[in-house]
Amino acid sequence: MQIAISVDMEGISGTVSFKQIVAGNPEFERAQRLATADVNSAIAGAREAGATRFFVHDPHWLDQINLLIDELDESAEYVGGQPLLLWEDLDANYGAAFLIGYHARAGQPGIMSHAFSDLICDIRLNGRSVGEGTLAAALAGYYGIPTILVTGDDYVCADMQAWCPAIETAETKVSITRYATRCLPVEEAQANIRQAARRAVAGLADHKPLKIQPPITLEVRWRNNQTARSVALMPSVDIKDQETTRFVHDDFAEVYRALKAMVHIATSSLNAGYLQMP
Ligand SMILES: [Zn+2]
Repeated sequence: MQIAISVDMEGISGTVSFKQIVAGNPEFERAQRLATADVNSAIAGAREAGATRFFVHDPHWLDQINLLIDELDESAEYVGGQPLLLWEDLDANYGAAFLIGYHARAGQPGIMSHAFSDLICDIRLNGRSVGEGTLAAALAGYYGIPTILVTGDDYVCADMQAWCPAIETAETKVSITRYATRCLPVEEAQANIRQAARRAVAGLADHKPLKIQPPITLEVRWRNNQTARSVALMPSVDIKDQETTRFVHDDFAEVYRALKAMVHIATSSLNAGYLQMP
């Protein structure tokens, strides 16, 4: 069986600050090593339960080159370089998806919480707030692939369990505020990831792909009404109120593509960086 693995860095074992997870900072290299080791722990556990091939996607931040390819497990193929939509090459050949190092959704008090850009205050699907993890799981689910493992802080683990009840979780840290967290010892966190990955693959039959019921209403609340108006220039996107845009479609892949296009419009219309983190 082959597994698609999407890797973010905010929920990686031992990371506590944006200063560690953005290229150019002195601590970034440490975060790259930690992220690569978390991925390798998940692969080791999955292999113990019978998985054979691993495709590791690296969508974090703008450049999307974070993991250390020469330190990745020898059975992993690496997918990086911008612009990644996420899960570019998913199809029925994948048996399952893993989310490694994910984080709390925008507006939650979890460590480094956000959704794609700090210009976004909230994303809702059919009225329910979603984070990047749920969106990734829904995109995998669109292709019939269950998301069976998430690793990250206590907020993202609880959030993903609400959407994917059978999902295995490995909590790497407990959030104190958006800017502070208590991390498990790295070795212990990575041992937990390995065990959770093994349980996830062994129990694959218990997992179902996440499907979002059509018609799907995507609402995004932006930091300000200027951004909302720029985004509403897209065909089929309406303004719901001053700061909120709305897009409705039956097909989740179209919804996801629209959301990514909105993020590109929003960040370029203000001449802002892709992510403007404090
Ligand atoms: Zn990230």
